[in-house]
Amino acid sequence: MREVAVLGATGSIGASALDVIARHPDRFVATVLSADVRVDELIALCIRFRPRHAVIAQQAHYPALRDGLASAGLATQAHGGTEALAALAASDACDTVIAAIVGAAGMESTLAAARAGKRLLLANKESVVLAGALLMRTCKDNGAEIIPIDSEHNAIFQCLHGQRADPSRVSKLILTASGGPFLNRSRAELARVTAEQACDHPNWKMGRKISVDSATLMNKGLEVIEARWLFGVPPERIDVLVHPQSIVHSMVEHVDGSVIAQLGQPDMRTTLACALAWPERVASGVAPPDLGAIGALTFQHPDRDTFACLDLAYAALATGGTASATLNAANEVAVAAFLDGRIGFLDIPAVIAETLESAETLPADSIEHLLAADAAARRHAGSQLAHRAGACA
Ligand code: NAD
Ligand code: MG
Repeated sequence: MREVAVLGATGSIGASALDVIARHPDRFVATVLSADVRVDELIALCIRFRPRHAVIAQQAHYPALRDGLASAGLATQAHGGTEALAALAASDACDTVIAAIVGAAGMESTLAAARAGKRLLLANKESVVLAGALLMRTCKDNGAEIIPIDSEHNAIFQCLHGQRADPSRVSKLILTASGGPFLNRSRAELARVTAEQACDHPNWKMGRKISVDSATLMNKGLEVIEARWLFGVPPERIDVLVHPQSIVHSMVEHVDGSVIAQLGQPDMRTTLACALAWPERVASGVAPPDLGAIGALTFQHPDRDTFACLDLAYAALATGGTASATLNAANEVAVAAFLDGRIGFLDIPAVIAETLESAETLPADSIEHLLAADAAARRHAGSQLAHRAGACA
């Protein structure tokens, strides 16, 4: 029986994870559930899954969680705050941690699970972008096993059969990208797009932050950085190919010219079922793609001039050190401002580029350096916002 902590249980990945867990009560049990602020949704999940622990990250909501669980007659123990989140991720309440919190806010609990040697089902890509080297070292030192839950990285993981990407055999990793809702749009058209349009992804139903990342192609940029750390492959051997049908989730190219791909419907339950059961296979509730009905799978190169975020991510990797932490933090600030209607879509890459240019790059060898780079980038990007909002008005 796998005892699973679902961190970010009220989110899109959390829902897919719990759907798969509920299908296999003989194999998986959710023992820890967490949310940021949505107490009522968390309590509803506790009534359904009866976990041992529930955590609300924003401490102010703790009394509501405690009282709600008590009045539902549940034995679930209530906790509040991010320290409780990290402590439970490392505790013996779970052997498997699904890291499905969005943003750098997920880093602490991800690292805590790694330190405790858990099986880490990693969706929270921002923690890899921010602290990739440190996270991989922590996993190695403590016997923690990462199974990627980003669909592209899970695809590559499956193509590699869980092995490392040995350069004597593997020549390239090819990440596929849907292209997002604004595929084939011009810069002039992008200047006017709204947050609602950006969040209306053609293939995937996801949280708002990753939906905007998908629309800017920063999601793919973050995934290039993620792949660099998860598979130990240098950026010049990681390519991106736009594939609007989102059926081929990624590919591995070998030195003999053979390319192996993983296919599936754009439904994260397939990825979660694979990761929860690995190396076994269990039903996910998702049918295989009907290729005869789909008819054509197409591929094209990304438009790197219009969607500048992809190259900004490659540039941050080339700079090294804390540059990826800077990129990630500036992106989080810019995306939040775009979602609030405070800046335009094309301001997102502009704010990130400006923040990267002005940032001091430190070695990424300590959590202090990473957090300092993250905080400095948030301050700098924040000051850029005021300037841009003013320029727009
Ligand atoms: P979401 O916005 O739907 O859910 C985020 C979850 O994190 C919620 O449960 C929320 O309560 C929690 N959370 C938010 N801020 C928090 C904070 N400061 N402290 C603690 N908890 C917090 O997001 P999502 O789409 O499920 O994405 C989650 C992560 O998975 C992201 O890193 C995303 O990039 C990655 N991912 C998502 C998908 C997808 O299909 N949704 C695919 C691949 C990777
Ligand atoms: Mg992905």
